[in-house]
This record gives sequence, structure tokens and C-alpha cells, in this order.
Amino acid sequence: MNGSWRESSSGSTFTTYDPATNEPLAEVAQSEPEDVDLAVEAARGALEHKKWRELDPAKRGRILFRIASLIRERSDDLARLESLDNGKPLREAKGDVGYTARTWEYFAGLADKIEGKTVPVPGLRFDYTRVEPLGITVHIVPWNYPLVLGSRGIAPALAAGNTAVVKPSSLAPLTNLKLAEIAHDAGLPKGVLNVVPGRGSETGSYLAGHKGIDSITFTGSVETGREVMKLAAQHITPVTLELGGKCPNIVLEDADRARALRGVLRGIFTNAGQMCWAGSRLLVQESVKDKLLRALKKGTDSIIVGPGTSEKSHMGPLVSEQQVDSVMGYIKIGQDEGAELLTGGERVKDGGLAQGNFVQPTIFSEVDPGMTIATEEIFGPVLSAITFEDMEDALEIANRTEFGLCAGVWTRDISRAHRLAAELESGVVSINEYPITFPQTPFGGFKQSGIGREQGLEAVYSYCRVKNVNVNLL
Ligand code: NAD
Repeated sequence: MNGSWRESSSGSTFTTYDPATNEPLAEVAQSEPEDVDLAVEAARGALEHKKWRELDPAKRGRILFRIASLIRERSDDLARLESLDNGKPLREAKGDVGYTARTWEYFAGLADKIEGKTVPVPGLRFDYTRVEPLGITVHIVPWNYPLVLGSRGIAPALAAGNTAVVKPSSLAPLTNLKLAEIAHDAGLPKGVLNVVPGRGSETGSYLAGHKGIDSITFTGSVETGREVMKLAAQHITPVTLELGGKCPNIVLEDADRARALRGVLRGIFTNAGQMCWAGSRLLVQESVKDKLLRALKKGTDSIIVGPGTSEKSHMGPLVSEQQVDSVMGYIKIGQDEGAELLTGGERVKDGGLAQGNFVQPTIFSEVDPGMTIATEEIFGPVLSAITFEDMEDALEIANRTEFGLCAGVWTRDISRAHRLAAELESGVVSINEYPITFPQTPFGGFKQSGIGREQGLEAVYSYCRVKNVNVNLL
């Protein structure tokens, strides 16, 4: 905060745990309302001091590029820390760190390309727009991709000249704290980036309802998003919401089955299924169902489950005991509602994994689109396979959900692929590859999956306000 490490004002801390063992990993300052006030004050001070907002935007970009370089230099440490804190395999954590560096590079390059326009108006007048930073942007970050999702909001906000207050998840706060250290080492002026770790119901809600902030970017569950919106409404604070998903991965009969198989497995078992973009509903055409499910079972049974920090592990633990209980609850509901358990379905207790939060990669077949496991976000390694007759049938099932984040389409027929892309109620559609997104492509959901877009050019403008200026030339 304000360029230095601080204790909490009450001296209190919370503990984060290694999800592979449930052993304590770190004690982290629990930010109290007084600490949040100080962080907002520091951000306000940095904003009003104009050192950041009015810095030559090319120089602002250069500092962000330095942040990206330091992320690359420290990538091994960052990846290890992310893996320890969240549980994900090191290989995935390394991918996250690379993606994070690319995100900072992309927005660093945009810092001096944020342009207004001149507007034709009648008479002898000159009318133009100024694109200004919003002010203090707040970023409330979940635990599943802390570094990627924190940076996805912070980098464009800073590129546009805002100052920021970040609230990481109390389940995995460590890499967001490291990010602040990196930003400081890269020469970011003090007060521009402040991190207030703490519990969501305390630190998060106090920050979201704070009078002194100018926007909130929230990534998390629909339920919490709704709470954040209510808190923001008190001061008409604008919100960007990146919420949950129940994404369909649609495999048509003419698809390249080997590629689809890899995409479906990656789409559900990456990060132990704890992704908003998880392709958690497999929609497979009746005529190819048996072959695909046989191959999926074989692929799933060969997944090695183990600690994220072991190079051998393909899939790590879930983030917490509570998450295990929730996922196991859904597996039971799936069985009770009559879906067929094709593989998995148990906690993993052998091989020294009993103390950790390990759940077998699981596939249900014979799932009816109305079942709970086909409609609610499970946020774990559980795939629900549903069959369809034809394309219309697939579309109807795919769109029959309150979510609308991502969708995958697998077919060799490019016309059908584009027709599906046009009709899918989903903010992101991936054809013949799943999942795919880049720092330069917009990401966000339709329906209850969210409001607004992150990544891409649009993102930087979402951290700006537009002022119209008219000059009478007479
Ligand atoms: P969560 O909603 O429990 O928490 C998200 C963040 O909000 C955390 O930092 C938490 O501490 C904070 N928080 C909790 N209660 C709060 C409150 N009352 N006021 C303010 N802040 C509060 O979500 P999670 O369990 O960390 O993440 C999983 C969810 O996030 C899933 O639903 C997933 O789909 C979603 N998600 C969405 C995206 C996306 O881009 N759309 C990306 C990742 C995760």
C-alpha cells in the first residue's frame, strides 16, 4: 500500500493453505475498513498528484513494459507460488505467468493510443472529445486465476492513467501481492497500485461500497456479483462483472474426433475444472456419442492426479475443503437424478493424497439437459455429457441456460460452424479448439455471465470516461 508493505491496522491476519496438503502456507494481513480507507486515500493521492495520470503516456507504457519484463524474469517463482497457493499444476501456472506478461505488454503498448475524436457540429464551432481516466479503479479478484485475472483488469486501468485498489481472494492472495512488489520494482509511482488482502464478506464488501472509488471490476460468482452490484448502487459506481458459466462444447458428427477429444478433456480438466470458461456440458451428436465417450473415458482414466508442484501431475487438487464438499455434493445429485457415472466420482485418498483436496476427474453420461448437473456451475472436474439429434436441437440445448460465457463448436463444415457461432447466446465462441482467448480479444459473458468486456481494445476504454468539449469559434 502506497509503495510499502504494511501490517493490518488491527494486527490481525488470515491463513492461506496449500490445497495439496491443507497445511498452512502463509499468514496474510486481514485488511480492516481503516486499511481500505488508507488504500483508497493513497490511490486518490497518486491520482491527484497527477504523476501518473498526466505522465507522458509513452512513459506510462514504458513502466508497464518493465512490469511485464520483471514478470518474465521472475516467472519461475511466480509460477511456483501460484501453484502452491491455488493447487494448479506447475505447467499450467507457467502458462498463466506467460499470459500475464503478454497482457501487461499488450496494454503497455496501448497507453499512448487512447484517442478521442472531433465531432462535426453545425456553425463555426469546434467539437471534440477528451478520453480521461475514470479515477480509482477497484479490482476484486477470484482464486482460480489470481495473476491472470487480476492483471486483466489492472493493466488496462493503469494504461489509461487510473490508480487502483486490488482485493485478491483470501483463498489465493499471494501472487497479487507479488505483482504489487513487481510493479514497485518496475518504478510504478507509489500509491498507483495498492493491494488489500482480506475476506470477501469483510474487506471486499467494504471496498465495493466505498464512496471514494470510481469503478469496480469484479470477477467471481453470480451470487457475489449481485451483492457487489447492490453495494456499488449506493454511489452509482460503474461495474464490470465477469461471472460464472455453464459452457457447452458441441461436437457434431463430422468433427475431427481426435482433436475434439483433446479439446473436451482440456476444456473440463484444466485447473481441476475450476474455470468460468469450463466446457462443463459436452453436447455430442447421437451418431458419434458411443465412440467419443469411450475415448473420453480412456483419456480421463489416464489423467494423473497429484500435487500441483509435482512435474508428474496432470491435474491438481481443488482449492479448498469447502470446494470439495460442493463438488462431491453435485456428484451425488447427478447420481440421484439418474445420470450415469461413466468414470470418476470419488475423492482421491490413495498415493499420500488423503490430506489434500483431490477429486477424481469425473464424467456423467445420459445427462438430461434439465438436470442440476447440466444447469448449475459445478466449478470442479465434472463433465456432463448430453446427446442431441441435429444442429437445431444442439442450439436449443446450448442456449437453455442462464449463463452465456463461452461455447465450443467442433465440425469440419465451416458454414454450420459460423451459423452456430451467430446463434449461440455466448460472449465467446471457439471453433475447432477449446478454450482459446488472447489479451487482444474481448472476453466476457452474455446473460447472467456478466456485464462488460475485458481484454482487447474495448477494455482500455472501459476504464475511461468521455468528456465532450465544444468551442464557439465566433
Ligand atoms: P467469489 O464470488 O466467491 O469471490 C470472488 C471475489 O469476491 C473474492 O476476492 C472474494 O473474496 C470477493 N468477495 C466475496 N464476497 C464478497 C462481497 N460480499 N463483497 C465483495 N467482494 C466479495 O468467487 P470465487 O469462488 O473466488 O471464484 C469462482 C467464481 O468466479 C465462479 O463462479 C467462476 O465462474 C467465476 N469466474 C468468472 C470469470 C470470468 O471471467 N467470467 C473468471 C474466473 C472466475
